[in-house]
Amino acid sequence: MTSHRTNIDLQQQLLVWRRELHQFPELSGQEHQTTARLQDWLAQFGISSQQYGLTTGLVVDIGQGQPVVALRADLDALPIQEQSSHDHTSTVAGVMHACGHDLHTAVILGAAILLKQQEHNLSGRVRIIFQPAEENYSGAYAVLAQGILTDVDVIFGMHNEPNLALGHFATRQGAFYANVDKFNVLVKGKGAHAGRPHEGQDAIYIASQLVVALQAISSRRIDTLETCVVSVTQIHAGNTWNVLPATVSLEGTARTHSKATRQLVEQHFKQIAAGIASAYGVEIEIDWQHGPAAVINHPHWADFATTLAEQQGYQVQQADLHLGGEDFAAYLEQIPGAFVSIGSASSYGLHHPEFHGNEALIYPAAQYFAALAQAALWELHSNSGAPEQHLSKHHLSPNII
Ligand SMILES: [Zn+2]
Ligand SMILES: [Zn+2]
Repeated sequence: MTSHRTNIDLQQQLLVWRRELHQFPELSGQEHQTTARLQDWLAQFGISSQQYGLTTGLVVDIGQGQPVVALRADLDALPIQEQSSHDHTSTVAGVMHACGHDLHTAVILGAAILLKQQEHNLSGRVRIIFQPAEENYSGAYAVLAQGILTDVDVIFGMHNEPNLALGHFATRQGAFYANVDKFNVLVKGKGAHAGRPHEGQDAIYIASQLVVALQAISSRRIDTLETCVVSVTQIHAGNTWNVLPATVSLEGTARTHSKATRQLVEQHFKQIAAGIASAYGVEIEIDWQHGPAAVINHPHWADFATTLAEQQGYQVQQADLHLGGEDFAAYLEQIPGAFVSIGSASSYGLHHPEFHGNEALIYPAAQYFAALAQAALWELHSNSGAPEQHLSKHHLSPNII
C-alpha cells in the first residue's frame, strides 16, 4: 500500500506509466503486457483484479455493494509506424498508440487509484473496465459476453479529442459517434481485349458507374438533414494496359447516426448495385458488415457528466456529431451512461502517425472521472430509496477528490 504517497507523486507516476504504455503498444486482442503492467501498477495501490474470462484486459471493483457505476478505458494500439520522435516514442515497429488509448488508460488508472483512496466514502461500487480491442470493435462485445455489465447501473467512458484544447470538455445528449458499416463489393464482368470491349463486359466501366451512383444515396435518397456518408476507399482491378479485367473489387464504409437511416443506406446501396448489375448484364456481389452502432448518450447522464465537468473546472461545450465509430456504443445499448470528449490538443488527428495527444490532460481527467463515479453513486443511491446517510447536498459536491 502506498497511501503515504501524495497525489503530486501520483500525477508524476501516471505520466511515467503512460509513457511506458506509449513505448510498448500492443494491437487489438494482444494486450498481454499492457494487462500485466496494469495488474502490477494497481497492486501497488492495493487494488486486485476481478476474475473474469477475458483473454486480455482487466476489471477491478472499488467499494462494495450496490449501486455500481462503471468507468471504461480502452487499451489497444494501431498498426501504424510512429513518425513523431520524443523520449517515449513507440519501440515496437509498425505499432503505435495513435488513437491515444494510452492516455485513456492512464486517466482511468488514475481514477481507480483516487477512488481507492476514497473507498470508505463510496455509496456503492465503481467497476473499472480496462477493455481490450476497441479498434477492431470486438472488445466491448467480449466484455459483455463475460457478464461484466450485468450488475452495472451506469457507465462512463472518454475519448481524447485532438481538436479540443487542454482543459476543454465536450459531449452531447443522444447520438454522438456514428453507426459504422463496412462494405465489400465484387463487380463480376467479363474480360476482353482492350481494343474489343464489346466482346466482354467491362467491369472497370461498370464499377465506375457504381462509385458515382452511390453518391446519390446521400444527395438524393436520404433526407439531407440526416447524417449520411458513403465512402469508397479501395478499388482494385487489372494488371496490364491492354486487357480489360474480368472483375473489380471495391471496399468502403457508410456512416450514419440514426437506426432508420442506417437501414435505408444499406437498402439504397443494394438497390443501386442491383440496378447497375441489371443494366449491364453482370453480377455485383455485396458483402455488407455492420460495425458498431452509434454511441447514444443517455440525456440525464450526459447532462450529469457535463455539470460535473463544469464544477471540476473544465471549459464545457456541446460536442458536434462525430463520424468516427466507438464500440462503447455496445455498452450504451445495454445500460444508460455517457461518453465524453476531453481535449488533447494534438496538431495531428487520431490515427495519424504523428498524433501526439497532450499528456497534461491525464491527471485532471483522472480527478474528473473519480469525482464523476462518486457523484453518480450518490445520485443512484439517493434515488434508490436507500437510507439517507451520506446524502446531504454537501456530499453531492464533487470536490472531495
Ligand atoms: Zn482509434
Ligand atoms: Zn480510439
